[in-house]
Formats: sequence, structure tokens, C-alpha cells
Amino acid sequence: MYTCGPTTYDFAHIGNLRTFIFEDILQRVLEVNGYQVKRVMNITDIDDKIIKGAREKGEGISEFSAPFEKAFFEDLEKLNIKSANFYPKATEHIGQMIKYIEELIKRGLAYQEKDGSVYFDISKFETYGKLSQLNKQQLKHGTRILSDEYSKDDVQDFALWKAVEEDEVGYDSPWGKGRPGWHIECSVMSQQYLGDTFDIHAGGVDLLFPHHENEIAQSEGKTGKKFVNSFVEGEHLLVDGQKMAKSAGNFYKLKDLEDRGFDPLSFRYLVLTSHYRDKLNFTWKSLEAAQNALNNLRDEIRAWEQPKGDVGQFWQEFLEAANNDLNIPQAVGVFWQMVNSDNTISSKATTILEMDKILGLGLEEYLGKPLAIPTNVMKLISQREEMRKSGDFAKSDQLREKIKKLGFEIEDTNSGPKIKKQH
Ligand code: AMP
Ligand code: ZN
Repeated sequence: MYTCGPTTYDFAHIGNLRTFIFEDILQRVLEVNGYQVKRVMNITDIDDKIIKGAREKGEGISEFSAPFEKAFFEDLEKLNIKSANFYPKATEHIGQMIKYIEELIKRGLAYQEKDGSVYFDISKFETYGKLSQLNKQQLKHGTRILSDEYSKDDVQDFALWKAVEEDEVGYDSPWGKGRPGWHIECSVMSQQYLGDTFDIHAGGVDLLFPHHENEIAQSEGKTGKKFVNSFVEGEHLLVDGQKMAKSAGNFYKLKDLEDRGFDPLSFRYLVLTSHYRDKLNFTWKSLEAAQNALNNLRDEIRAWEQPKGDVGQFWQEFLEAANNDLNIPQAVGVFWQMVNSDNTISSKATTILEMDKILGLGLEEYLGKPLAIPTNVMKLISQREEMRKSGDFAKSDQLREKIKKLGFEIEDTNSGPKIKKQH
């Protein structure tokens, strides 16, 4: 499986992270079904925006990218996203890209312009536009695009190699100094690590055209073989009904969520409640609901026993939902039915750990682990019980506040006080 990775010109926003979570779920579902997944995720560490950002800061491109790359890996860890087997970087595969482009020229699929740039000739690739279902009238033959970004109205020959001036960031090549276009890196690095044909290629829906379309043209043009068996593209995260994007300036980073007191896994939970083919409109209210659900779940399973026996009757239903085009929202519904069911808590424990192999909420950390309550808090709790019994409610309320300041909350129940850690 190959998944298009981050462009390290800024911190990842939670829209990017939604896509990375969806890809993680896909990997986990495959693994639970017994497949062994070999996964590659590239790091785009050279493109127009990185070069511009580095120039503005007076830094080299790798120096400029480094902190964003580091933050990307930290985000993955906080969100329980499994590691890929390889994270190849574009700048470390320039030689391979040059060879690949030479091959495309040799096959008559690419041509060099006078300035030293090399373009892919889309008219030479019979099935261009098939993935994104473009009609032939949209193809503008003989016009070219050099920029890394373009829209569906610009169906043109695209740059494989961009000529640059002597004082710009670039590499020597048979066509003079230049740097690779954006699309070529994914063809080169996916095939280097996974072979000419591989099973799954995933990304966000904005990559369908032109990025994935161009990858197919390059790869199948070069090998004459099928490139990818299945493309899977996840829908966008929106904010106020608009696509969250760095360029639109309407984005939040994971750090922004943490600064407001949210656990990163509450965002993962939120993502699990929507289908990957549906847009997800982000609101703080929905994140709060996700956080509450997660907190309640953690409190609940602390009181459970350690797992014993087989998975219960809900497991099959859960897996069927997950296997049905990753219907995770439905699977989450089954998950809650299981949690609230009358099954024994040891069998529920077995089932929840199995389900969490797909959900990835890190529940093992809480399962059957009663809260450790410090002795000073225990003392205050029993003092408060005495006050309550003697009818001194003012004093008992004072003690409740004191306990709260120490991070614990009391819920009075028929069977005595129930203690929770404040979230
Ligand atoms: P980038 O760092 O811009 O190259 O994007 C990394 C990944 O995030 C790609 O798979 C994009 O398709 C995806 N992506 C970008 N914006 C969004 C969004 N608003 N919602 C979901 N995925 C997104
Ligand atoms: Zn890509």
C-alpha cells in the first residue's frame, strides 16, 4: 500500500490528519483480516512552497523542512497511527527520478522544451483521464503546466522536470540544472519499494486529479503494466463548510486542539464516527462530544476485568461493518452495543481489545486498571462521607471542592461515592 504523504512546508492540519487516520484504519482492517501490509508513505520535501518558505527564512530546504517533518511523526504517534515500513524522501531519490524521466523520453511519452524543462505528453498516453473520468474534450493538447498545483480545467502536459536558474535550488541533470515535478516522485518511490504493480494507493480526494491520474500515466507509460489495483481516496475535512487547507488559512493543527485541553485521541474518535467517503465538518462542539464519549468509555472499562475467553457475539457484526467499504461509523455503533450489553465483563474485555485493533483508541491502557487514588484524597473522601451522614452538607460540599482541586470528582450513588479522575 502506498499513501501520499505530507508536504513539509508547514505543520500538518487536522484535515491532513483525517486522511492519515483513514489510511491507518484501512491498514488495520486489512491486518485484522489476516493480510500482511507493506506500506510506503512518501515525504515531499521539495516543492514550490518549500522553496519559497526556505528562501523567505534564509534557510536551506532540508533545514526548513526538518521541524515540520519531526512534528508530523509526533502527530502520527499521538493519534496511534501505525508506522509505515518506509518513509522515502523526494530529495533522496533524485537520481532515480532522472533515470525514470529518461526512460519516458526514450519511449516517446515525454519531451524536452528549449529551457531545459521536460514535460509528459498526455496525448501519447491512450487512457489519460480514465481514473478521474475526464472527457476527451477537456484535454488541451500542446499546452503545458509548470506549477505544482492546477485544477481540473487545466488538463495539460505536466512537468516532469523543471528547469531552474543557476542560483536556484536544483540538481544537475542531462537537461541542465532543474528539479523534479511533484507527480514523478510518487511513481518513482512507490515502484521502487513496492514493484511495478501493487495493490492499494490511497490519499485525499483532492489527489485524484491531477496527481493520481498523472502517476498512472507515468507508471503505466513506463512499464506497460497495470500500476495499481485499487485507488482509495478519502473525503475532506471541512471547517464552516469549506475544505480545510493551509492555503485558505482556515486550518487547525493538532497542537491547537491540545492547547484547548483536548486529547489527540478525541480527534481520532471523531474521525471514526464519519465514513471516509463523506465530508466531515469539524466543529469544537463535535470534538467535545467525542472527548466526552472517550472519557466515559475509559471510566467504564477501568472497572472491567482482564480479558478471558473468546470474542462475544458482537465481534462478527463489527467486522462485517468494517469490511463493508470501511463502514467504521456502523462498527462504532456495534462497539457501543457491546460495551452496554449484559455480557460478562471479562468477555467484553476480550472483545473490546479485538475491536480496538481496528479503532486504535489505545484502550488497553485503561482496561481493568482501577484508578489509583492517593491516600490524602482517600482521607478527604471518608471525611466527606462522615459530614454527609451527619447532615453537614455545607462542609461536605467544601470537601468536594477540595477533592476536585486535587483532580478527582465524586459521584454519589446508592452504593456509596464513586470516584472519577477529572478529565
Ligand atoms: P499535503 O501535505 O497537502 O500534500 O496533503 C497530505 C494529505 O492530506 C493528502 O492525502 C491530501 O489529499 C490530504 N488533505 C489535504 N487537505 C485535506 C482536507 N481538508 N481533508 C482531508 N484530507 C486532506
Ligand atoms: Zn503522491
